[in-house]
Amino acid sequence: MEDKQVVLVTGGSRGIGKAIALKYAQNGYNVVINYVSDNTDEKAIEEEFKNIGVEVLLLKADVSKEEQVEKLVKKVIEKFGKIDVLVNNAGITKDTLLMRMKEEDFDRVIEINLKGTFLVTKAVVPYMMKKKNGRIINLSSVVGVTGNAGQCNYSASKAGIIGFTKSVAKELASRNIRANAVAPGFIDTDMTSILSDEVKNSINAQIPMKRMGSAQEIANVVYFLGNEESSYITGQVINIDGGMVM
Ligand code: NAP
Repeated sequence: MEDKQVVLVTGGSRGIGKAIALKYAQNGYNVVINYVSDNTDEKAIEEEFKNIGVEVLLLKADVSKEEQVEKLVKKVIEKFGKIDVLVNNAGITKDTLLMRMKEEDFDRVIEINLKGTFLVTKAVVPYMMKKKNGRIINLSSVVGVTGNAGQCNYSASKAGIIGFTKSVAKELASRNIRANAVAPGFIDTDMTSILSDEVKNSINAQIPMKRMGSAQEIANVVYFLGNEESSYITGQVINIDGGMVM
């Protein structure tokens, strides 16, 4: 029997990450879901994936802490022996205007979104090199391309992810490891649910397609970038934003 492929999704317990993990599971991948919060309902998530007929491993780790990331990757290798696809999805916001932003709010967003992407990629790549095959997909954002008032920390982290992705793509292309980023626009998840209806309506009005995107619409593209259908694509940033940035 041929081995199932394995995907590791950081921040896979909710929102876009969970939709990505489900998409891979529905396509026959064994799935590793990383999360950080103590109140995650591991059993419910496990059940959901087992019902699809794949193996699932849930691992708590803070992606911004090197020691925790190394343990996380070690556990994945112990269980599955390989990682075919890495999706660096874990991310947070701590929005406020520049003049009000505290140093710790700047640092925490950079640490989780950007340094976390670096740490997990660094820990996973040796196993992809061994297999001479791997696909890495990083979650950037349209605001990493355009900037956004009130999000200088978050925009910087997401712009950093673009530079990181392109550099890694150049370093690893000859090893048959591809790295791409997606830049979602305004997507309906917990991250955006904190916005008032007024703010949501005003953002929707500026989107050519006049609506938010769904986590599923991001997952579809992340899945495409993680399989052979996209075999000649590396170092790219794909906007998924209803036409916000063009
Ligand atoms: P979300 O619903 O807030 O979910 C965030 C996920 O990240 C959760 O699974 C959370 O785990 C995990 N996480 C947070 N801090 C972590 C840490 N230190 N270590 C490990 N995991 C951590 O977010 P989302 O809207 O799905 O966004 C997912 C990604 O897409 C993020 O990178 C975000 O920046 C990006 N994005 C989102 C939008 C949007 O409009 N929603 C737009 C552009 C880009 P717990 O469940 O354990 O807390």
